[in-house]
Amino acid sequence: MKINFACSNCLKIFDVDMIAIEFDQHGELLFNPIPECTFCGATEEVYLSNMGQMQIDHMVMRNQIKTVKTSSTSHGKS
Ligand SMILES: [Zn+2]
Repeated sequence: MKINFACSNCLKIFDVDMIAIEFDQHGELLFNPIPECTFCGATEEVYLSNMGQMQIDHMVMRNQIKTVKTSSTSHGKS
């Protein structure tokens, strides 16, 4: 599915074709592949646009986003 992202580096808006979107155990969205700006190649500065947020909201309402269940990464925090 295509999700709409925005880049705060070059201020462009673009679609990224997602293979999978999941929530991690902290409720953070995990994108596969990692969204990359199609204009400047940035990844750190890429965030969901308003349209992308609506697309995600729709998917959440339809239960199309699962929460990752991983018990292996329980290394201590300091
Ligand atoms: Zn960019």
